[in-house]
Amino acid sequence: MNLILMGLPGAGKGTQAERIVEKYDIPHISTGDMFRLAIKEGTELGQKAKSYMDEGALVPDEVTIGIVKERLSKDDCNKGFLLDGFPRTLAQAEALDQLLSEMNRSIDYVLHVEVNKDELVERLTGRRICPTCGTAYHVIFNPPKEEGICDKDGETLIQREDDQPSTVKNRLEVNLEQTQPMLDFYSNKGDLVTINGSQEINSVFNDINEKLKTIS
Ligand SMILES: [Zn+2]
Repeated sequence: MNLILMGLPGAGKGTQAERIVEKYDIPHISTGDMFRLAIKEGTELGQKAKSYMDEGALVPDEVTIGIVKERLSKDDCNKGFLLDGFPRTLAQAEALDQLLSEMNRSIDYVLHVEVNKDELVERLTGRRICPTCGTAYHVIFNPPKEEGICDKDGETLIQREDDQPSTVKNRLEVNLEQTQPMLDFYSNKGDLVTINGSQEINSVFNDINEKLKTIS
């Protein structure tokens, strides 16, 4: 079961990833975890990646792809894997395709958890933070007992710059632009499965399950 999970920030990808790896017993491979492992193990590619990250530079694709290859070659990936956060661009998607075919493997499904932009904006701009203790709330999904006030210390909650509507909309636009060519690529290959992420969490997972049942 070789899967890629995609979705914009706020689409609820993280929750679904947890459930998929638990039910199907495949490793959850996020880009961050992959880099951390390669750096910890001190592989040549890990050291290269670290030198870029230490300088605050982007890790070049050839290094990233190499690290993906090392990770997918580990025993725990024999049954499959769930890639999350990689690929991020069309170039990376094409390189992954090449890499998998060298390994005599291929992607079964690209699960795209889709939520419309207006709803994402509502989800993402609802976040409130306590400036004193750092506790995070959400005006709809996780509200404090008293509106605008931290449950723990009574401090007035703030909305971070990152969560302001204009910033959120901008971030989503950029993300959409980058994602679309990849979605087209997987759609043309027949791997893309669009999951309605606007539903309740359990229904989203049920839809994913229905699709995954067809892999054997
Ligand atoms: Zn607080």
